[in-house]
Amino acid sequence: MIDSHCHLDFAEFDADRPQVWRNAQAKGLTGLLLPGTQASRFSHLQSIAQQQAGFYYALGLHPWFLNEQSSADLEALEQLLQDTQSDPKRIAIGETGLDFHIAVEPALQLRVFEQHLTLAQHFNLPVIVHHRKSHNDILRLLKRYPDVTGVIHAFSGSSYEAENYVKAGFMLGVGGTITYERANKTRNALLAVGLEHLLLETDAPSMPLHGKQGLRNSPEHLPEIAAVLATLFNQEVDSISRQTTDNFERLFLR
Ligand SMILES: [Zn+2]
Repeated sequence: MIDSHCHLDFAEFDADRPQVWRNAQAKGLTGLLLPGTQASRFSHLQSIAQQQAGFYYALGLHPWFLNEQSSADLEALEQLLQDTQSDPKRIAIGETGLDFHIAVEPALQLRVFEQHLTLAQHFNLPVIVHHRKSHNDILRLLKRYPDVTGVIHAFSGSSYEAENYVKAGFMLGVGGTITYERANKTRNALLAVGLEHLLLETDAPSMPLHGKQGLRNSPEHLPEIAAVLATLFNQEVDSISRQTTDNFERLFLR
């Protein structure tokens, strides 16, 4: 199985990154996608991705860090997208998106998100979309870019929202959220759209699973998310693993 959203490049893993990946492989992981967050970290991200078979990366400016970004960072992003056009490991744009729970001006986030969508269209790349309290604005913007596909990372929301993302050509990233009792609405939304539109992800080191709150999350825990999905869909973990890997390949390795 593939962890479609894992920040293994973050400092939290500096002390034991190779060991974490060996442990994850022992649990059945074959690959992961490292999302971009800040221009200053792109070269570090690329070097981690190049070191390991099965690792892929995306380039983008995460909404959380936009107060520290400048227009030069957007130019750097565009230039690097240009320069990496023949790099088979650079498979997406992101993560980008809208987070209306943080102290970054919505107007700035909307502008930068739209710039990412324009780049996705231009370079014909899928986008990794971060959301929080922003489904309506994201869906509204995606309508303006009908050719752009991607994934709604760490999806949580209603069946209505899930179905609209799928109609817009997007997959839903399924992470630790579904391991919590209270996530009924999200679990029902996943059932409503069906397995062929879902990807597995940990968002490590963030988004700890139920029972592991306060601890560093890790790609080693991906099989536990797959197991919850297997129970939800009344299928074997193997078939969840196969289907979500197919989905990953269809979206990102096209
Ligand atoms: Zn992330």
